[in-house]
Amino acid sequence: SQKLAQARAEGKPTFSFEFFPPKTAQGVQNLYDRMDRMHGLGPLFIDITWGAGGRHSQLTCEMVKVAQAVYGLETCMHLTCTDMEKTKLDDALKEAYNAGCTNILALRGDPPREREKWEATAGGFRYAKDLVKYIRDRYGNHFDIGVAGYSEGCEDNGDVDLLIDHLKEKVDAGATFIVTQMFYDTDLFLEWVRKVRAKGIDIPIIPGIMPIHTYAAFMRRANWTKCHIPEHWMKALEPVKNDDVAVREVGKDLVVDMCRKLIDAGILHLHFYTMNLAQATRMVLEDLDIVPDLESPLERPLPWRPSLALN
Ligand code: FAD
Repeated sequence: SQKLAQARAEGKPTFSFEFFPPKTAQGVQNLYDRMDRMHGLGPLFIDITWGAGGRHSQLTCEMVKVAQAVYGLETCMHLTCTDMEKTKLDDALKEAYNAGCTNILALRGDPPREREKWEATAGGFRYAKDLVKYIRDRYGNHFDIGVAGYSEGCEDNGDVDLLIDHLKEKVDAGATFIVTQMFYDTDLFLEWVRKVRAKGIDIPIIPGIMPIHTYAAFMRRANWTKCHIPEHWMKALEPVKNDDVAVREVGKDLVVDMCRKLIDAGILHLHFYTMNLAQATRMVLEDLDIVPDLESPLERPLPWRPSLALN
């Protein structure tokens, strides 16, 4: 696209934002306003997560429609296949298609909280690769299909090498890009990228970056994903943990260092988990100086294919 060409011509990496469907109507309106403002930062695309079940999944579809049609944002819709009848999946894919969305992040979905072990829904899908194959079979090459990657293991599997084998199966089923779980240890991440490439996986790998809003949220998310926190991060954040402004400033420096290391290693696209908040992400982007010069912003992004364009 023009945005991508412009960023590359300026020698700048590109970036994208993830948003999730808010719980209240007011929250949705606030998020639309924020999305509109964050559009001004020049993301190449945005992701809307799949709010599994009932109202939230419908909201995901609605947000995709609004982001595409009203805000002119290239959108990637997340879609999970647990606890979902095929008809619901079909409806969601049809809505995405009709909204002009050409990117789906195909996921298995988290296991339901009340059950200890995940079980496939009768007549449904077992793994994300089944969903990738299903979308490919039904829609050919209409959608670019992303899948999740885990540089430090996932909730129900700590075996990173086995997860790479399963990642390869998702790619062989038709995935065209990989978005990773958040991480804070760049060395571990780059080591994982080398392993993924050594397995013959050559599609773009998009690192998931979680900016730091507050100390409590930082710790909660790191514990939840069980990702490794480098020692110097704790040393920098611990002393200021009760001062949110200082945490954001120190956190920004740490995340910016991490992004610089990734860019130096040849990663040309960064994906930000915004948590529906603008400030921490904007601080990182401004410090990295990768916000494109949008004096004459595009009215609408031109069609682009992340699998061909990135990395
Ligand atoms: P899979 O790739 O299917 O893997 C699930 C498990 O099955 C793994 O342990 C894997 O090793 C194992 N497995 C895979 N293939 C095989 C095989 N052939 N044999 C044996 N075992 C196998 N959740 C949401 O509900 N909504 C979202 O919007 C959402 N967005 C996400 C975005 C990103 C970038 C990431 C990283 C996660 C997201 N999740 C989301 C969470 C995700 O749904 C969970 O992490 C889920 O538990 C795993 O999904 P997956 O697509 O990685 O599954």
